[in-house]
Amino acid sequence: MNPFDLTGRVALVTGANTGIGQGIAVALAEAGADVALAGRSSAEETAGLVRAAGRRAALIAADLSTIAPVGDVVESTLAELGGLDILVNNAGIIRRSDAVDFSEADWDAVVDTNLKSVFFLCQAAGRHMIGQGRGKIVNIASMLSFQGGIRVPSYTASKSGVAGLTKLLANEWAAKGVNVNAIAPGYIATNNTAALQADAQRNRAILERIPAGRWGAPADLGGAAVFLASSASDYVNGHILAVDGGWLAR
Ligand code: NAP
Repeated sequence: MNPFDLTGRVALVTGANTGIGQGIAVALAEAGADVALAGRSSAEETAGLVRAAGRRAALIAADLSTIAPVGDVVESTLAELGGLDILVNNAGIIRRSDAVDFSEADWDAVVDTNLKSVFFLCQAAGRHMIGQGRGKIVNIASMLSFQGGIRVPSYTASKSGVAGLTKLLANEWAAKGVNVNAIAPGYIATNNTAALQADAQRNRAILERIPAGRWGAPADLGGAAVFLASSASDYVNGHILAVDGGWLAR
């Protein structure tokens, strides 16, 4: 018996066409899960990687800047893959500007996508998981679930909110067989951090602070995601697992 085995499980991953979502979707497939890929851009490439791992993939078009598609995302996963055991709330955006200049539009866009849609997807998936007495929810948090950051007020608010929400849902659902946890990635080389990577000064400062001495890659999140999606984590509830090359230990 391998407690990390996901054979026969169905996972739903949002924002899986690229970056961390793609890395997690592929890791879940390699551990045995079939994977529904929900997002606003086509995740054909990721679907190909899931199928290459011998698993089924379903593509679900959904713009999660509002909660309008949430019910359909869960229903489509159930209809196309026959179940829903794992939800990974990965889709997210960031907007950068000094706090004194920060616009309402940049506040709403980030909080709506990163926090509101995350909660209502947890709710929709959670209703199904509570009904079957079993489920795993993995939210993607951030270093800015612990720290303040700079020039990203709505992102910090949203990711701090994701950490709090993860703990609230764990409190309500742990006894119902649903584990709700989060992964807090450190500095991972993706589109989300392209501006930081391109800024020579920030890039150097970030690298100097990371004990591991390198940016993370999307594949670095795979092990933590499989752990939190599998029965290996059945007694882990409301935890925010940092995968950060030691950033928070510094
Ligand atoms: P990314 O490459 O920009 O990926 C973000 C994903 O979210 C993309 O698939 C994107 O789709 C999707 N998305 C954004 N808005 C959406 C919407 N309205 N509807 C549906 N999908 C939407 O960045 P990433 O770094 O992999 O980010 C993934 C998650 O990790 C985010 O929640 C981010 O905050 C978090 N995170 C990243 C880091 C890091 O260092 N990279 C650190 C901590 C946390 P499109 O391709 O269509 O934009």
